Amino acid sequence: MLRRTFLLTGLSIFHRKPVETLGGVEFKVVRNNAKSPRRYIFIHGNEDTAREVMDLHMQAYEGTAFSVTGKDRYVTVAGLKVDPNRMFSRVGAEKSLRDLNPNVDPGPALELLEREREKLMKRITPGPGSRLVALHNNREYSVKSEIEASDETSIKEPGRPRNFFLCTDPKDYAILKQSPFNVVLQAKPDPDDGSLSRLAAKRGFRYINLECGLGELEAQLERLRWLENNLP
Ligand SMILES: [Zn+2]
Repeated sequence: MLRRTFLLTGLSIFHRKPVETLGGVEFKVVRNNAKSPRRYIFIHGNEDTAREVMDLHMQAYEGTAFSVTGKDRYVTVAGLKVDPNRMFSRVGAEKSLRDLNPNVDPGPALELLEREREKLMKRITPGPGSRLVALHNNREYSVKSEIEASDETSIKEPGRPRNFFLCTDPKDYAILKQSPFNVVLQAKPDPDDGSLSRLAAKRGFRYINLECGLGELEAQLERLRWLENNLP
């Protein structure tokens, strides 16, 4: 009996997405109309649902999306682990580096992050009048942890506290709170924990983080579509 093997080499039906290293971290970059000022970011590599939501979403909506390629929550910078959502300020990065790498000098990693941060920020800062949308998933964390730190809150789904928007612009909040979903506004740059939301508040660009429970693909897609259809 002859068994034939068909090799599909040369029949590549997909293109490898461009990969860029920004701020010491590797990202896949997906563009849907490079002229669109909208930006999207996926930064915690172990939040699989948000990664999938981002890929699906970018097939239908315009903008440029940056998705971390690693599969862990933490990224490695100069050999040390750091939470990528704590590396947006020196003070936040240093705390995360010290927490995750006890008894190791965080200096070289900190310096690399300082040198590279603007390169990353240049790419993910939205164009004038536009916004940066971040996608996250959680396991236990919920909007309850953010109530105290927020300027305003609208909790329309108290039974689904893990699904919520966190925004930094009062105008976005005014629109998002008309949705049937949970929303909090954090417009102040302090306390500076090194997160992207606090840096967005400091620099004055619009930032919206959509948090959903891990595995809640449809819920996250639905909320993201509401955002697209209602926020300019
Ligand atoms: Zn996250």
